[in-house]
Amino acid sequence: MTQHCDWPRGSHPEDAARESEGASIANILDVVRRGERFLVCSHSRPDGDAVGSMLATGMLLEQLGKRADLVTADRIPSIYRSLPGADAISTVFRVHGPYDAVILLECDGLERAKVRGLEPFFHINIDHHATGKPFGHVNWIDRHAASVGEMVHRLVKAAGCRVTPEMATCLYTTVLTDTGGFCYGATRASTFALARELTEAGADPVRIAQDIYFSTVTSKLLLLGAALSNLKREGRLAWLWVTHPDMVRTCAAEEDCEGIVNYAICIAGVEAAVFLRELPERRIRLSLRSKGRVNVSAIAAKLGGGGHENAAGVTLDGPVSRALEEILAELRPCMEELALAPNIHEEKEEAFAWENREPGTGLEISDE
Ligand code: 5GP
Ligand code: MN
Repeated sequence: MTQHCDWPRGSHPEDAARESEGASIANILDVVRRGERFLVCSHSRPDGDAVGSMLATGMLLEQLGKRADLVTADRIPSIYRSLPGADAISTVFRVHGPYDAVILLECDGLERAKVRGLEPFFHINIDHHATGKPFGHVNWIDRHAASVGEMVHRLVKAAGCRVTPEMATCLYTTVLTDTGGFCYGATRASTFALARELTEAGADPVRIAQDIYFSTVTSKLLLLGAALSNLKREGRLAWLWVTHPDMVRTCAAEEDCEGIVNYAICIAGVEAAVFLRELPERRIRLSLRSKGRVNVSAIAAKLGGGGHENAAGVTLDGPVSRALEEILAELRPCMEELALAPNIHEEKEEAFAWENREPGTGLEISDE
């Protein structure tokens, strides 16, 4: 097999969105069967879906008798390091090959991987983001999938391979983490059916949940304290932030920022939330969350980022105050539209009114 692939291309990017799932899977498996050596890669700052789906894809390739190198630009967060085979993932700056194809999971382009040297290869793009793009030679984008791991599971079945207990553990992790513990919009009956199937195949839901939700490092809680002391509320919006000195003072790692935004979106009556983190080079990394009435992926995409309707991210210029103004300028009009929309969420509105009477819950709220 050559490094510069001469397979008939499975799909031209413009046609890719129209490809049926069956055809996409067939194309992917065709490329896999013809090749010998593959690179599996996901986005920088890998999350549970990125790690779990990479590991499961590696196991699938192994079952098919292929060689697979698993790489990411950033190290694996500690809560995922106990996943089966996690040691096999290398943190790299650049790849060299030769590879018959690169399988990119959860990336909207080669740049999102932040790994250099991917350009010359044949690209298989598997993604489930609302802002996913058909940048690959073969593309499979399913916006309704709860995780990319769910898609990998379909691939494993289509390949006629076995879902081993190790694979089931990795795939269950993708579903658990990407649905926020079965809370987010993509959670449907089929999600529970998959969770059940993976449990029957050997995933241990209690152990996995303990490894993820009850293994917090102290630095993360100290950082959370700093973030919460910066919590602000403005009607249906809430935000919080940490500065780079906060990160240094609490000895926090990047991965300790994961989930902090949830402490803002979980407030009763809040519809959209932002967590801002100052990077060492003074750029600001934003995590956006919505309870479902505001499409935060559209807002993130407008500013150069992307993600899902309920969870998205973007990086903006600093300082924090400037990035905050930029994102609030996008979010405030959405909140005004919400206020005008027919009120079909009476309970939420009640909670909203109640919250707004509480002293100390927001900038502009009076203590009457
Ligand atoms: P988080 O806030 O957890 O970092 O990201 C939330 C979601 O948005 C994830 O699915 C993540 O992949 C996506 N996301 C975050 N930042 C970016 C970005 O800069 N570009 C794109 N395309 N997606 C992003
Ligand atoms: Mn995902």
